[in-house]
This record gives sequence, C-alpha cells and structure tokens, in this order.
Amino acid sequence: MRPSPLARDEAPAAEPDAVAVAASLAERFRSRADVLDRENRFARENFEEIRSAGLGVLPLPQQYGGAGHGLADVCHIVRRLAHGCAPTALALNMHLMTLGSLVERWKIKRDLSWVAMRAIADRRLFVAAAMSEPETGSDFLCPRTSLTPRAGKLLLNGRKVFGTLSPIADMFAVTARQGDQLAFVLVPPDAPGFTVRETWNALGMRATGSHDLVFEGVEVSPKAVFHSLPLHAVDSVVLAGVVWFEATLAAVYLGLIEQALDFTRTALAPAVDRTSPTAQARILTMELGALEETRRAVAALVSEAAEAWDAGGDESERLAASVAAKTYAVREARRVVDGCMSLVGGRSYAQSCPLSRLYRDARAGGFHPLSERLSHELLGWVGLGRPVARLSNATGIA
Ligand SMILES: Cc1cc2nc3c(=O)[nH]c(=O)nc-3n(C[C@H](O)[C@H](O)[C@H](O)COP(=O)(O)OP(=O)(O)OC[C@H]3O[C@@H](n4cnc5c(N)ncnc54)[C@H](O)[C@@H]3O)c2cc1C
Repeated sequence: MRPSPLARDEAPAAEPDAVAVAASLAERFRSRADVLDRENRFARENFEEIRSAGLGVLPLPQQYGGAGHGLADVCHIVRRLAHGCAPTALALNMHLMTLGSLVERWKIKRDLSWVAMRAIADRRLFVAAAMSEPETGSDFLCPRTSLTPRAGKLLLNGRKVFGTLSPIADMFAVTARQGDQLAFVLVPPDAPGFTVRETWNALGMRATGSHDLVFEGVEVSPKAVFHSLPLHAVDSVVLAGVVWFEATLAAVYLGLIEQALDFTRTALAPAVDRTSPTAQARILTMELGALEETRRAVAALVSEAAEAWDAGGDESERLAASVAAKTYAVREARRVVDGCMSLVGGRSYAQSCPLSRLYRDARAGGFHPLSERLSHELLGWVGLGRPVARLSNATGIA
C-alpha cells in the first residue's frame, strides 16, 4: 500500500492528483447541492463525474486496476467531496467502504475475490451496501432477509431500507441470514425478483437515493456469496468493514462541518470588521473559535483512526479509534451547524441559505451504526482491554 500523506489537516505533500480532482469536483457539487436537495433528486450527474474521474476505484489494488489508496487517503478524499456536497460524499462512502471491505478480505484470504475487484475496476462499477432492515434497524449483523437453498441455487427474500446509491448501483452487497450464518451476497440490479422502490423522501441527505430494496425469490449463485460467518459475530473481515464504514462516515461529517464553517467565516467577517474592536466583535470571534476548535478535534480523530488502520496493530483498538471518530464527528456536526446558524443569525433560517440544508443533513448522522449507545459500550469494552468478537444492539458487545 502507498504511504499516506493525504490524511493530514494541511495540504498534502505528495500524491496530489486524487485530492486535487476531489477539490475541483467539490466546487461543482456545491453549486448543485441546493437544487438536488430541493428536488429530492439523486446526485446522478455528480456520480457520472466521479466515475469519469476514477474516484470510484480508490481503494482497489493497483494490480487489479484500482488506485491502491489506503483508508487515510480515502477519508481525505471523501472529506473534500463532502466539503462540496455531503449527500454525494455519503453515497460514495457506502461504495468505497464496500470496496475497502473487499480489499481487506482479499488481503486476508488471497482467494479468487480478486476477479470481482478486477471487474469493478475495469468497468468502474458502483456497489451499494444493503444491510439495514425495518425490523432490525442498525443491528446489521443479524438480518431477517434470508438465503435458502433450492436446486443448487440460493433464493434471496427480504426487504432492505436506506438503500443509498440505489438509482445507479451496478451491484448490491446484501446481508442475509443463511441458517445460523450471516452471508454477504452480491446481487445485480436486474436480477428477476429484485425491485428498487423509490421511497426516499427524508429530512436531509436527500440526494442520496436511499430507497427501499425488495427481494422476492431472487435466485443467486452460491458463488455470489463472498463472505459468511456466524450471526452477530465479528471476524477480521467484518471488523475491517466496520472500520472502513465508521472512518469514511466520520470524514463525510467532517467535510460537512468544514462546509458550514466556510460559509460562516465568510458571512461573519464583515460584521467582525464593522464592529471591531468592540466586545461584540470579540464575542463573535471567540464563538467562531470554539467551533474551529471542534473542527480541529474531529479532523484529528478522523486522521488518527484512518492512519492507525493503515499502520496495522491491535484490531479492537483500531476499531475503537474509528468508532470514536464517527460518534464524535456525527454528534459535533449537529452542534457545529447549530452554532454556525446562531452566529450567522436569522438569515441562516431561510431555505436558500446553505446552513439550513446542512442543518438537516447533519441530523442524519445520529442514525448511522454503530448507534451512539453501542459505540459507547464498545469504547468502554475495549477500554477494559477486551477484544471485540460480537456486536449487537440487543445483546451488546462480547
Ligand atoms: C442518510 C442515511 C443513509 C443510509 N444509508 C444506508 C445504506 O446505504 N445501507 C444501509 O444498510 N443502511 C443505511 N442507513 C441506515 C442506517 O445504517 C441505520 O440502519 C438506520 O438508520 C436504522 O436506524 P434505526 O434508528 O431505525 O435503528 P437502530 O439504530 O437499531 O435504533 C432503533 C432504536 O434502538 C435504540 N438503540 C440502538 N442501539 C441501542 C443499544 N445498543 N442499546 C439500547 N438502545 C439502542 C436507538 O436509540 C433507537 O431508539 C442509512 C441511514 C441514513 C440516515
């Protein structure tokens, strides 16, 4: 894997290409964010540009047509994209974390899964992650969706919610129960019996296309199952997937924080200049400074978690670092946007103000797994020096 100069707060010293591309795409995405939100429309044009720019293959190994970036680089790029459009970055993160998980699995198993990576890279496919269900919520290691054998094939039945990226996904990585095992299976969008129900109409993150996914007797080959393990269990592959998910998600909400602060600095500067050096100007500056402090803390946690993962070492510790980064980032994103709105004042309440959109987008953060309660239990558990072998909202960490 390449060294990771991109994850720091300052400008990267090397490998600027993907970051520069992401920064320039982010500018274009920012100009579209408002209309996508208002029209509740999936960010299709952004994904065409992401595909053409090659940002969809970031984590795949170079020998299989990817860009060979580690988690720290990927987080840095996701953060830049979220600086322009948080829903686009969130939707891309579901794809990138799925690829990251495939890569980590391949590193452990060294099996034929490279064939799937090669196909994804060559054809620049987007892969959605279909895990959440209405009945099980974020308890993603214990789905109700089932895989049952029939005449040498497997039948997939169930319903997923929050199917982010579904309007353009070329493949869906679906979790299903197969006996007492949790199976991860790849399903193409044109599989007979698979329907995307266009239900997504949410408070925020409206351009993510997170529709419902219905599987009614979808026939899949046993070869499409790319990983399985006991329900609720955490092995090295699942652990790596959770780390990729938590860290890239934290990067999305860090980019959102940065977008809100950018707007606030620009909006506030004239008021500070006009009133300086009065107490009012000082208070505004101090309040902005407190939010800047939070931004730096979130950035430090994201970098620490992603760099720790790339560096190797104790798995549970690295899992805890990513969970802490994500829990902190999503909570602080809500607080920072609130703070930005009160600093900017009443005009931030208008639909036309980007802060009112970011306020709604930031609300999504609290619903991503691991839930805040489970995250805190995990941090306490790892703090007690115990390894993580099982994850469940219902029965906790073990
Ligand atoms: C914008 C957006 C995009 C998303 N995209 C995807 C996607 O692409 N793929 C996907 O699979 N999912 C996706 N999700 C879904 C997400 O991952 C969650 O599964 C989903 O939000 C379910 O949350 P929930 O609150 O219903 O369930 P849960 O997190 O299970 O929570 C249900 C209730 O249980 C409580 N609870 C949770 N944990 C504990 C605990 N340990 N102890 C006690 N109480 C607890 C909660 O407080 C809550 O009241 C997305 C979500 C959002 C908001």
